[in-house]
Amino acid sequence: MTKLKDISRKKSAELFEKAKNFFPGGVNSPVRAFKSVYGTPLFIERGDKARIWDADGNEFIDYCCSWGPLILGHNNDEVREAVAGQLSKGLSFGAPTRLENELAELILNRNKFIEKIRFVSSGTEAVMSAIRLARGYTRRDKIVKFEGCYHGHSDSLLVKAGSGLVTFGETSSAGVPQAFAQETIVVSLNDREAIQEVFTAFPEQIAAVIIEGVPANNGLLIQDHEYIHFLREITKKHGALLIFDEVITGFRLGFEGAARHYNVQPDIITYGKIIGGGMPVGAYGASKELMSHISPDGNVYQAGTLSGNPVAMAAGIAALNILSRAGFYEKQEEKTRSFVEALRAYIRAKGYEVQIFTIGSIFWFAFTSQLHIKRADEIDPQSMEKYKVMHRALLNQGIYFGPSGYEVGFISDAHSESDLEVTLQAIKVALDVVFN
Ligand SMILES: *Cc1c(COP(=O)(O)O)cnc(C)c1O
Repeated sequence: MTKLKDISRKKSAELFEKAKNFFPGGVNSPVRAFKSVYGTPLFIERGDKARIWDADGNEFIDYCCSWGPLILGHNNDEVREAVAGQLSKGLSFGAPTRLENELAELILNRNKFIEKIRFVSSGTEAVMSAIRLARGYTRRDKIVKFEGCYHGHSDSLLVKAGSGLVTFGETSSAGVPQAFAQETIVVSLNDREAIQEVFTAFPEQIAAVIIEGVPANNGLLIQDHEYIHFLREITKKHGALLIFDEVITGFRLGFEGAARHYNVQPDIITYGKIIGGGMPVGAYGASKELMSHISPDGNVYQAGTLSGNPVAMAAGIAALNILSRAGFYEKQEEKTRSFVEALRAYIRAKGYEVQIFTIGSIFWFAFTSQLHIKRADEIDPQSMEKYKVMHRALLNQGIYFGPSGYEVGFISDAHSESDLEVTLQAIKVALDVVFN
């Protein structure tokens, strides 16, 4: 077995011990705790382009990219200067600013799938608000979500499948009232009959079906175009709304996200992550008609003290301006494609049992022989042991992947050809470690 020398995590381990006194599990978001991989979490000191440096001075090429927002990499010059330019003018006013108009215009002029937008401060908030809008608009209470799709941590959405094909959900977190979970129905992805049954079982009770543009929070579960169009048709037929949660896919699969990818018109689209250029911004958008139901125009209430925060808007504007330049996404995709192809060639040559699923600049390693994975229950939990080994072997070679085998990787504009070449060699070594 290939043996790699472990990096020093001395300072990170000390900081983590201290953090445990302050925060549950030592972290402010659970996956950061490295529970699904080896060792203590790395405390990051700074980032530049594709690289990050931890408290022990270790350098990594980063494929987590803050879980997706950093499509331009770390410390992008234009984004940093835009933020710096705003800082001296004030951090927050709780009154409208021209920056909100600017970011909205930039988005709406280039996105034919929404006509009006509302800025919030996180993806969770965006989805929670979209659900409320769907319920307020349809005057129905039930929502349908899919096993393996993550939509943030609001009560209605922390629900997993119960037993049986068409069941009410069960809460997937303590503290979510059963009565809330009762209003959320969870079905498998890629299963038309399950959806049909839901609409038959609950006629005129379903406010919305919500799906991730491309499910990318529990592996990368790429759906068929036909299935997405089927969801569009069946929701329309039953007077339910279709919500695309594009918190990951928005501005990632292209400026117009998954809606453009499938060429399907959802009723409401939610955004987060990339939209704020690394600052906390979320948004939801829909037709003018639907959005007229939001307060103060309509009776669906939704508000935010720091919504449309000027510093965050400045970052979003700078980032999205770069993304809207000709050829941006083609370059991203081409880079990702050749990286993945080179890896696949190695995997084939070695006969390793691992697949790399990819779309746009997102990729996911699945330790399986299955050529397609479209549902959460097709992922073998045992395979995560292999990911743990790969994850450690990569860290030891200066490559930072997300700390769970269910997480996808992201390639940013800042990843150079040579970064990718270095990474390619490191992954080959890591796979040799896993399989030998
Ligand atoms: C990250 C994510 C969320 C939650 O966004 P936060 O900003 O973490 O609240 C919701 N939906 C999807 C699809 C996400 O990827």
